[in-house]
Amino acid sequence: MKAAFLGLGAIGRPMAMRLAARTQLTVWNRTRARADELAAQCGARAAGSPREAAQGAAVVLTCLPTSADVERLLAGADGLEAGLAADSLFLDCTSGDPATSRRIAQRLAARGVAFADCPVSGGTSGAEAGTLTVMVGGDEATFARARPVLEAFGRRIEHMGPVGTGHAMKAVNNALLAVNLEAFGEGVAALVKAGVPARKAVEVLNSSSGRSFVSEALVPERVLTGRWPQTFRLALLDKDVGIALGVLDENGVPGPVLHLIGELFRHARATLGEEADHVEVIRLIEREAGAEIRG
Ligand code: NDP
Repeated sequence: MKAAFLGLGAIGRPMAMRLAARTQLTVWNRTRARADELAAQCGARAAGSPREAAQGAAVVLTCLPTSADVERLLAGADGLEAGLAADSLFLDCTSGDPATSRRIAQRLAARGVAFADCPVSGGTSGAEAGTLTVMVGGDEATFARARPVLEAFGRRIEHMGPVGTGHAMKAVNNALLAVNLEAFGEGVAALVKAGVPARKAVEVLNSSSGRSFVSEALVPERVLTGRWPQTFRLALLDKDVGIALGVLDENGVPGPVLHLIGELFRHARATLGEEADHVEVIRLIEREAGAEIRG
């Protein structure tokens, strides 16, 4: 099977690497050097334009920051749409927004191209290991065609419902991640100032009911150690909280907690910048509280 993968960022790159191991893969990236480097490393072919990447591919996958970026990539003489074959499959792994994906799906359906939103969860390490969770929005027939492709990097592959529901699921998941990051930082900064050693606080939380993925995985690996690796940009998590707020609004759910989290993440993004990692929101809380969560 011939496939194409466009968007070789922090998570797209390891996903494309896994696809290259089982398909004849063409890659495209806005910064060409990244596509050339990956192609050289795994025997894929680097394309000079989105159109060229899509030509001859039975399946095209994208992983860009936003759905608006995907929509822009489709347009123009050298755009993806110009290269897509009728009866091909378009799988968008961007953590995108439901409304834009519904519009994209409609536009592609008119040309006989099937679309599903397929955002992923599990981080860059999950992409490398092929253990991502994939949340798929599309019709049953498209899901059945997509599953074997997604198995290259996904372990749990779930059909959530029609186009857009994969994005909605992913956005709500990430909004809860944002809640846990913020609440953990606030609570443990206060404990540290009250004289509780940070590591002990984390260990007790992790054998109690306040634990979360943040306290069990992110904090021990990244915060207590002072490592702060860059794997998932805070700017992207802020974008996801915004998408989740749209899902709440569309469905008439007021959501005071998530609206407040939206404000706090906008502030964190403005303060820490576009390249900061998402866990660094805890750094901001540390700074504002005058407490270090280390140990
Ligand atoms: P990065 O910021 O690391 O990479 C973004 C990629 O998109 C790069 O290849 C970049 O190209 C390309 N790009 C950016 N803007 C455009 C544009 N306007 N047109 C074309 N290409 C563009 O992002 P990630 O890889 O981390 O994230 C990608 C998606 O996956 C996001 O939606 C994110 O929310 C989601 N995600 C990320 C996870 C993670 O752990 N990192 C986990 C789960 C989901 P260039 O090389 O030229 O900059």
